[in-house]
Amino acid sequence: MRPVGLRKDLAEEWTRLAPALLSSVGAGLPSAEHSSMLNWMDASYFQHGFKLGKAVSGALARSYHSEIVDRLKSMGYAARAGDLSLRLAREFGFCYGVDRAVQYAYETREQFPTRRIFLSGEIIHNPDVNQRIQQMGIVRLAEAADPALRYRDVEREDVVLVPAFGLTVDEIEFLKAQGCVLVDTTCGSVLNVWKNVRQFARDGYTAVIHGKYFHEETRATASQALTHPNGRYLCVGNRQHAEIVCGFVRGQVDVNAVRRTFEPAMSPGFDPTRDLERVGLANQTTMLMSESVEIQAMLLAAFRDRYGEAELQNRFRAFDTICSATQDRQDAVQALLDQGGLDLMIVIGGYNSSNTQALTALSEGRLPTFHISTAECIGAEGIRHRPVGALDEVTTSAWLPRRPLTVGLTAGASTPNIVVGEVIERLLALFGRRLDDPRSP
Ligand code: SF4
Repeated sequence: MRPVGLRKDLAEEWTRLAPALLSSVGAGLPSAEHSSMLNWMDASYFQHGFKLGKAVSGALARSYHSEIVDRLKSMGYAARAGDLSLRLAREFGFCYGVDRAVQYAYETREQFPTRRIFLSGEIIHNPDVNQRIQQMGIVRLAEAADPALRYRDVEREDVVLVPAFGLTVDEIEFLKAQGCVLVDTTCGSVLNVWKNVRQFARDGYTAVIHGKYFHEETRATASQALTHPNGRYLCVGNRQHAEIVCGFVRGQVDVNAVRRTFEPAMSPGFDPTRDLERVGLANQTTMLMSESVEIQAMLLAAFRDRYGEAELQNRFRAFDTICSATQDRQDAVQALLDQGGLDLMIVIGGYNSSNTQALTALSEGRLPTFHISTAECIGAEGIRHRPVGALDEVTTSAWLPRRPLTVGLTAGASTPNIVVGEVIERLLALFGRRLDDPRSP
C-alpha cells in the first residue's frame, strides 16, 4: 500500500496523513471517482501485508523453524533410535492461514517500528507464538463484549492487528470509526464461511453454525448473519446440540428446551418456531470433519421427516466450510492410525486450539493419546496433558507403557515446527538417544 520507494519513517507518516490528504484532494471530483480514489489510497486498512517478507524471513526462521523436524521429514516421516520409534503425520503444524497471519504480525512491527501495536486477543491459539509476538512489543487486548471497553486504550495513531480467526462486525466497525491503522490477518478460509453465512441471511435462511460459540472465529462468523435485516444464527457445538434441534424440527422438543440449551449461542430475539423453518448449515473451519458430516446428515433427515423430500431444497442448505488445512491434518492422523503399530499418540498444540482438539478426538478412542502444549509437559515420571472435553490439564504417570515403544506425533495448525522439534528432542532424551545417533538403526 505504501508508495514504492518511500522510506519507512516517511511511509508511516504517509499512512497517518493519507486519508485526510486524499479526502481534500479528491473533494472536487464527482462522488464515484472521489470515493474510488479514497478506496484505492485507503492507507488505514491492510489485508495483504507490506511486502516485507524478505525483511522478516530471518526472524521467522529463527523463531519457528526446526532442523530436527526437517530431518525427520527427510527420513520419510519415521525414524528409530534405539527402543524409540517415531512416526510423524504427513501433514501437521502451521497451515497457510497461520503462516500468513504470523508473517503479517512481524511485517507490521517492521513497517511501524515506532507506533504502538495492539493485538485483539491471540494472533493464533499457540502460547509459544503469542509469547514471541508479545516480546516484539505488541500488546494483547483482553476480551470484552463491548468494543468500547476492549479498545479503550487504542488511539488514532495506533495499529491494531486482527487475528487469523477474524473479529466481529461490531469490533471492525468500531475500529474503523476510531481511525487507527488496521492490519487484518483474517484467513481466507474464514472469509469463505462468512460469505456463505451472509448468503443464508440474504436468502432468508437461519445460519446454523457447527462451531464452539466461545471461539473467536464462531462469534465473528455469527455476527455476519446479522449484517442483513432478519438475519439469524444458532451455534450448534456438538452432536447433542444437533439432536435437540432435530427434535424441535420434528415436534418432539419444546421451544423452552431449545432456548435453555442454546442461550447465549443464538441471535438476539431468536424464535425457534419462526427461525428453524429454513436453515443453512456452515462450520467453524477447524471442527472435526466426521462430526460435521454427522450433524449435516441428522439435520437433513429431520427436515425431510418434517417437510418431505419435495420441500427439502427450500428448507435446508449446507456448505462444508471446514478448511482444507484442517481436513489434511485430520486425514493424515487417520492414515497414521490406520497404518497401525503405534503404542501412543502425542498431539502438540495450544489447549484452546480447536483444530488440535479435533486431532486429539480422532486419536483418543483408538489408543492412548496425549494433547500437550509444549515439550515441558513431557517427563519420565509423567506427562501433563489435556484430554478432550476436560477444562484443566491432568498428569498421567507411567505413561510409557513398554520398550520398544512406537510414538505417533502430530501438531495442530497453529503449532510451529520449533515446538514439534522440542518435543522430539525431549522424547529422544528420555531414551538417551539422538536422531542422528550412529547406534540408531
Ligand atoms: S486452520 Fe484453516 S481457517 Fe484456520 S487459519 Fe489455518 S487455514 Fe485458515
